[in-house]
Amino acid sequence: MHLYSNTDICCCQLNLTKKFYELRITMEEFKKKLIEFIFPPALTCSFCGREVFTGEPICADCKDILPKNDGFYCEKCGRRTRIPTNYCEYCSGRLVNFDIARSAYIYDYPVNKAIQNLKYNNMRFFAREFAKEMAKVYYKACVVCDGITCVPMSDKRKRKRGYNQSALIAEALSDELGLPFFEDVIIKQRDTKSQVGLSQKERIINLSGSFSIKNRSLIKGKKLILVDDVFTTGTTVNLISEKLKSAGAEYVFALTVSSVDMKKEENNAKNT
Ligand SMILES: [Zn+2]
Ligand SMILES: [Zn+2]
Repeated sequence: MHLYSNTDICCCQLNLTKKFYELRITMEEFKKKLIEFIFPPALTCSFCGREVFTGEPICADCKDILPKNDGFYCEKCGRRTRIPTNYCEYCSGRLVNFDIARSAYIYDYPVNKAIQNLKYNNMRFFAREFAKEMAKVYYKACVVCDGITCVPMSDKRKRKRGYNQSALIAEALSDELGLPFFEDVIIKQRDTKSQVGLSQKERIINLSGSFSIKNRSLIKGKKLILVDDVFTTGTTVNLISEKLKSAGAEYVFALTVSSVDMKKEENNAKNT
């Protein structure tokens, strides 16, 4: 009778794990191709309507005029400021739970339109475009993170919309940066009313108790990127950061597609 040694068993297990991992990668690739087939990138520029031959949803001219958040910004919340500063008027004397927040664009036309199209008109290809620019912002911040997570959506809303736009962006960013995406770490337990037009205090009350963390072992001691589409008052990412830190996360880098200028925050938020 042949008895397997511990080493044999380990090798077998290793091979099986490797095969399973390869199969999983193949399935993920297949899923992506299928999504691209069902929701193909536009053949014309999504902003100006001109033909695009690169397969990208935005033409080079329109890309050049997108309102990038590349001037002066607050070192804490990442929102645009008139002068270089460590803390903007909004962040001064205020305790926040994320370590830093940064955004790739200013929430202004046509980025606001693209975000709305990603959210409500199934234009999922914008997620990849945004992720490319967000990756540049991540590298510029010189922070080394271990993984990515995102602002969740309640099951009810996800069933209605069919997808969570922040998860699409986070998944694309995960591909760009080669970092793991911890999708199901944050749960939104109940649906909350829209934050549009609410004051910061009302936003906190509206979201209070709606987020919880699961799979704590995944994030313990980790430096995380928390992805969302728009940074308005920062209430959502702040509440989630508090949960992540309580669950053992070491560092939270809130990275959003765009941020709303402080003075415009209420008016523009009406369009989100
Ligand atoms: Zn264009
Ligand atoms: Zn600030």
